[in-house]
Amino acid sequence: MKIFEQLNVPKQCKRYGLSLWQCPSFLFLLMGIIICLVSIVSYLIGTRYIAEPRIVALIVLIISMILLALATIITNSFERLAEANRMKSEFISIVSHQLRAPLSNLTWVIELLMSGRVGKIEEEQVEYLKILKENSDRMKDLVKDLLIVSRIESARLSLRKEEFSLEELTKEIIKEFEHFAKASNCQIEFSAEKNLPKIFGDRYQIRQVIENLLDNAIRYTKGRGKVKIRIKKEKKFIHFEIEDNGIGIPKEDQKFIFQKFFRASNVLKYKTQGTGLGLYIAKAIVERSGGKIGFKSQEGAGSTFWFKLPIK
Ligand code: ADP
Repeated sequence: MKIFEQLNVPKQCKRYGLSLWQCPSFLFLLMGIIICLVSIVSYLIGTRYIAEPRIVALIVLIISMILLALATIITNSFERLAEANRMKSEFISIVSHQLRAPLSNLTWVIELLMSGRVGKIEEEQVEYLKILKENSDRMKDLVKDLLIVSRIESARLSLRKEEFSLEELTKEIIKEFEHFAKASNCQIEFSAEKNLPKIFGDRYQIRQVIENLLDNAIRYTKGRGKVKIRIKKEKKFIHFEIEDNGIGIPKEDQKFIFQKFFRASNVLKYKTQGTGLGLYIAKAIVERSGGKIGFKSQEGAGSTFWFKLPIK
């Protein structure tokens, strides 16, 4: 029964959330075809050089058995990896869904207590409640990111595309970040080319991308920070770029930067808070919107993150 399930290629690919070329059962089928071809070719070559047909058949049989054993071992290991990955995604999905409701309740109760509607509270108690609120907000942000990750992994991240101005959206976000930037001793500069066309994408999701890049640029800058945001047109795309003079990213960490939960070694040293999910989410959103994302960075000098999105 299991063998039939394994041979149902589309079902297995969907279950693991993998493309055809990464799917264990498809790879097994492909290897089967290759083994058949190798057997035929080795038989034809064998009959040319070896007079005894039984020896040729034996050699072909041995080669096929070895290849089949190798194919089974490789696809089994692939399948185990795919299964582990699927279970991890399922775990993220369950945890994030289960934590959402109790966390909302917690925040609601804290806010109710702070409002004083259920009885007067002392000044000292307000301070403690503020700490509770801050922590529950952080947990809510983490759960929100985990929910998006689980949607990305199960290919359920839906984009509601519309036409909008990236310039207007960026200005809006900069305004919302003014307080945080000031508190972090950081100055934000913005420039955009004149008469930029609108882009076509999910405004809410693209907002998350910009918020994350701006939040990182401010958070990973120690001392007097300068963040420059530039928007320009580049062929059929609108190009967004954010440059900071912050701590930068060590060279050896740069290739992992868009992986989920990855945080560079230098930020761990500075004890800056974070989850390592923001850039993973940003990449998924930009790429699903038909765009591209990238960065260049030098440790100790700063980073420039960019993305480009298609004009309709
Ligand atoms: P988080 O910021 O929550 O850790 P992100 O996915 O947004 O998660 O970023 C992943 C990692 O990339 C960060 O932990 C940090 O090491 C590095 N990083 C991102 N943006 C910057 C930046 N502007 N300057 C320096 N390092 C950065």
